[in-house]
Amino acid sequence: MASVLIALGGNVGDVRTTFKKAIAHICGMAQAAMIARSSDYATPPWGDEDQDPFINACVEIETGLDPHALLFVMQKVEQRFGRMRDKDRRWGPRTLDLDMIAYDDVSMNKPDLTLPHPRLFERAFVLVPLAEIAADRVISGIRVRDALASVSTQGIEQLPDTG
Ligand code: ADP
Ligand code: MG
Repeated sequence: MASVLIALGGNVGDVRTTFKKAIAHICGMAQAAMIARSSDYATPPWGDEDQDPFINACVEIETGLDPHALLFVMQKVEQRFGRMRDKDRRWGPRTLDLDMIAYDDVSMNKPDLTLPHPRLFERAFVLVPLAEIAADRVISGIRVRDALASVSTQGIEQLPDTG
């Protein structure tokens, strides 16, 4: 079984409910066990700043699927929750974005899958929830808590648990 860290994001619709459903679907489709789940965080829009705030979270799952099979499942779940991809706005509004942050210690650089996720260390909206569940994990030689200490977390707000 592999330990996989997945980052969730979205800023359209009832994102927190979408996260709950998406996580349940991923675990079901990937025959995965949920090991840890972060809080949800409200985060300032990134990349394309002319849009609503995002909600972000991270989960750790354990699965027997290989990285590409898991990516396929994640893309199916993104589609199911009606992710809107706007070709003109690469980092524009979306109902659900699922990024594979790390898959065990696998390192790969394929056209459709780069592991660990290449933009992980520049994204406070990933590092904050990630540090909540995997502060001591070392990814690409960098400890998550150290990566977090090197970025600004301004404007990121932990949301109360909805139960
Ligand atoms: P971003 O996640 O940077 O906001 P997108 O979600 O629009 O950008 O990018 C989706 C594309 O990224 C997909 O076509 C997928 O094949 C590719 N990709 C490469 N590496 C990964 C990864 N580690 N996790 C998820 N998608 C990835
Ligand atoms: Mg993505």
